[in-house]
Amino acid sequence: MSTVNLKLNADLHCHSTVSDGLLTPAEVVRRAHANGTELLALTDHDELSGLAEARATADEVGLRFVDGVEISVTWDNDTTLHVVGLGIDPAHAGLCESLAHLRSGRDRRALQMSDELDKVGIHGAYQGALRFVSNPSLVSRAHFARYIVEIGRAKDVKSVFDYWLGKDKPGYVRHVWASLEQAVAWIRDAGGVSAIAHPLRYKISRKELRRMFGEFRDLGGEAIEVLSGGQCDADTREFARLAREFGFLASRGSDFHGPGESRIDLGKLPALPEGLTPVWTKLV
Ligand code: AMP
Ligand code: MN
Ligand code: MN
Ligand code: MN
Repeated sequence: MSTVNLKLNADLHCHSTVSDGLLTPAEVVRRAHANGTELLALTDHDELSGLAEARATADEVGLRFVDGVEISVTWDNDTTLHVVGLGIDPAHAGLCESLAHLRSGRDRRALQMSDELDKVGIHGAYQGALRFVSNPSLVSRAHFARYIVEIGRAKDVKSVFDYWLGKDKPGYVRHVWASLEQAVAWIRDAGGVSAIAHPLRYKISRKELRRMFGEFRDLGGEAIEVLSGGQCDADTREFARLAREFGFLASRGSDFHGPGESRIDLGKLPALPEGLTPVWTKLV
């Protein structure tokens, strides 16, 4: 592995308006390029419809681009995980159908969330959230969060999750997403590599996290995000160690959603620690 390769400014996790990002796919690509990104993947939640515009813009500005997706998964009964697929074929019929089915539950869930929020005095949340939605088949909790901030019931999006929308909070509605097995198989069948997104974000013990990594690897999962937006150096070192132990490739992604809403901007992550094999060895 050459050092140059390890130091590549890759950003392999971010969002556009086709899911819950604030910028269009073209704007995401232009911003990533302006920030010095050398390899970019757009990874909208359960949705591929931004990839053509992103790739066309990337070709225009001369930025290497990887087709990506971030799949919502329910693991071990009630833990929501996110699995990023990198280098997938955006025209793969099986993947397109599976994701369309996965998205189809979101609207009903959004209506249920709105009912729950209504009970605690947050009224009109469904209609309110819709004003922030660009893709009607992709209503996310992030859209609800923007509405709740707008009406002054929380000071920022993060607080909305702490008080209203996070797991076991009043507006939380349990939802069953894809299984880990399905997500890995869909990504593999569409020619991609799967990576566990932001492994720090899950509210499970380190023991459970290791069990999940083991299952993921046994299913054919190949990578984890060793670097994700907003984590500290000690966390990065821990995930570097785990990547080596489990034999995972290392991914790097800001999880950028928009200016002012993300702790790390596109292409502004630190370098991967030494001694890892970057996931982009399989992508470029
Ligand atoms: P959903 O897929 O509809 O459940 O929404 C999940 C999205 O909500 C994530 O992708 C983030 O954009 C956002 N989100 C979840 N938890 C938090 C948090 N603690 N702070 C900020 N945004 C969050
Ligand atoms: Mn999101
Ligand atoms: Mn995520
Ligand atoms: Mn994400």
